[in-house]
Amino acid sequence: MDNPVQINIVIPLYNEEKVFAALQQRLTELMRNSKLNITVIMIDDGSSDNTAQLMENLSLQDKRFTSVFLSRNFGHQLALSAGLSVVDATEAIFVIDGDLQDPPELLEDFYPYIKDGYDVVYAVREKRKESFFKKLAYSTFYKILKRVSNIDIPLDSGDFSLISRRVVDEIVKMKEESRFIRGMRTWVGYKQIGVAYERQSRHSGDSKYPLSKLLKLAFDGIFNFSELPIRFISYVGLLTILISISYLIFALLKMGFTGDVPEGFIATIFMVTLFGGIQLLSLGIIGEYILRIFFQVKERPLFIIKKRIYNEQVIL
Ligand code: UDP
Ligand code: MG
Repeated sequence: MDNPVQINIVIPLYNEEKVFAALQQRLTELMRNSKLNITVIMIDDGSSDNTAQLMENLSLQDKRFTSVFLSRNFGHQLALSAGLSVVDATEAIFVIDGDLQDPPELLEDFYPYIKDGYDVVYAVREKRKESFFKKLAYSTFYKILKRVSNIDIPLDSGDFSLISRRVVDEIVKMKEESRFIRGMRTWVGYKQIGVAYERQSRHSGDSKYPLSKLLKLAFDGIFNFSELPIRFISYVGLLTILISISYLIFALLKMGFTGDVPEGFIATIFMVTLFGGIQLLSLGIIGEYILRIFFQVKERPLFIIKKRIYNEQVIL
């Protein structure tokens, strides 16, 4: 490449053959209209449809499109991490989804903030063109996350963002196995700013985030950036002990004064099951942290790149 690349657009793709042509067209248009020197890095996250072939064809004939192929499906956050690990832009990296829910053209609106000295320009969804259930699930999740987490993760912002090269380098250095990139991006610091936009509906094809993957992401968000749930267990324990001692004193006094043998079969069953539940929940919360330690200590590579096409050349 003659001039240094200023911006990489990084796009994870998983079974997106239906969107691919539209995506390619929008990106080509964007690069034609822009004064910036932009290249695209697409990551195939082990697609089982024709996505990888489409990427390969494009990358072999247009050097502005780099392709990275993972050895299997690693999930969106790891595919994105793989993309971030091979960036070559000098200024900033634009992270978008492949389904055109995040309009690539917003790059031109975000870029001036980087010039103004911001390191992260993240998109804040003003409206969502998505199902009622999904909207409710998202807003509940972001509210819990805000309360629980150690860092101030902005509400309603996803991975869609323009990130300076130095912040991307910091994210790549983080070796954590369960990755919640929007949280890691916040953690890095520097000057960050949110810009509102209207999230589009998916261009075509179905969401690649079934409820199970969405829940995993939500758990990664909550348990990777918090200590409050663990603390909370201690508080609940303390409170329980206080209540139980008070009740014991009350029952003994009542027995002493009135001679009544305390009743309370139902109350006993209720208490036993309630605390059985609280204990299991507490173990589960501790388990979430232990699970993360367990996977982390293995120190496995986060993802495996099986092939890359860069500058129209295949790199194995
Ligand atoms: N994606 C991926 N690997 C996966 C699931 C999704 O690389 O295992 C990609 C997908 O192709 C898309 C982006 O991640 O570019 C966001 O996925 P999707 O649009 O399905 O999520 P949603 O917008 O429904 O939350
Ligand atoms: Mg989407």
